[in-house]
Amino acid sequence: RAKEAGRNQVQFFEENMHARVAERALIESELRHALARDQLSLVYQPKVDLHSGAVTGMEALIRWQHPGLGAVSPARFIGVAEETGLIVAIGRWVLRTACAQNKAWQQAGLPPLRVAVNLSARQFRDRVLLSEVRAALEDSGLDARYLELELTESLMMHNVEEVVTVIESLKQLGVALSIDDFGTGYSSLAYLKQFPVDYLKIDQSFTREMLTEPKVAAIVRSVIALGHILGFKVIAEGVETGEELHYLRLHQCDEMQGYYYSRPLTAEAFAAFISRPAPAAPASAGAARPAA
Ligand code: C2E
Ligand code: MG
Ligand code: MG
Ligand code: MG
Repeated sequence: RAKEAGRNQVQFFEENMHARVAERALIESELRHALARDQLSLVYQPKVDLHSGAVTGMEALIRWQHPGLGAVSPARFIGVAEETGLIVAIGRWVLRTACAQNKAWQQAGLPPLRVAVNLSARQFRDRVLLSEVRAALEDSGLDARYLELELTESLMMHNVEEVVTVIESLKQLGVALSIDDFGTGYSSLAYLKQFPVDYLKIDQSFTREMLTEPKVAAIVRSVIALGHILGFKVIAEGVETGEELHYLRLHQCDEMQGYYYSRPLTAEAFAAFISRPAPAAPASAGAARPAA
């Protein structure tokens, strides 16, 4: 019995392994053609000021629609893209598409907003990053202050001096920078003060648990306070409820992003969303002035 169960378990494990290897190979071979076959697109999720209720910008998030596989989530292919190096071409496309879209919105008369693009570790370590960012701005005509780059904490740990140099040269271009998924990596507090970034993004795993886990709530409050002491703005990801929004606002978090306000939207839906009449100001945002 026990032996049989053990054998079944081993067999299950092996089948699982095979399935994963096969899945990875499939994703890799299909991803190689995704760009050329026009299967990639970007969606945009608004970022909102917690105190004024104003939209401050949006994060560009990649989507892959494959004819056979359907919608493939970034969780399934970004890792493969990084391992294979495909992320370099894909990342370049994301950067250029987001800049061009943002410029198009501005030319269409929408209020100018900042678009945030996720950078993978591989792109960040690439020597051509700086010239690619510059080229994406020049070719689109987007002013650098309307571009933000989101970097992950783990990316920053490798060679601190080099990382600081790259961040400083990006800052000199005039783009904004944020540390994504903050709290999930290993950044040392000593290093944090050396990074001239603009935002800390509290990872959504903290947002999700902060109202049920007192220790997580304490972490969230500490990150907000620490961020402010170091001169960063703090934004929370993954806000799904009004209670979460309220808690974050109470504890002076600056901005939020999450399904509660809006899911990521196609470019057309985003433009419509931004152009709609402004909703009533949030309850505790101070005296809501009636429109003049
Ligand atoms: P991220 O940069 O931390 O992006 C936030 C993720 O949380 C997005 O997932 C977004 O759709 C999701 N999200 C937003 N609000 C909520 C919410 O209220 N609740 C929940 N449960 N989720 C929410 P998505 O689009 O699946 O992307 C996952 C990750 O893939 C991103 O995490 C980012 O690390 C990576 N990624 C996405 N697009 C790109 C890209 O263009 N380049 C690179 N290098 N990575 C990307
Ligand atoms: Mg991000
Ligand atoms: Mg994040
Ligand atoms: Mg995340």
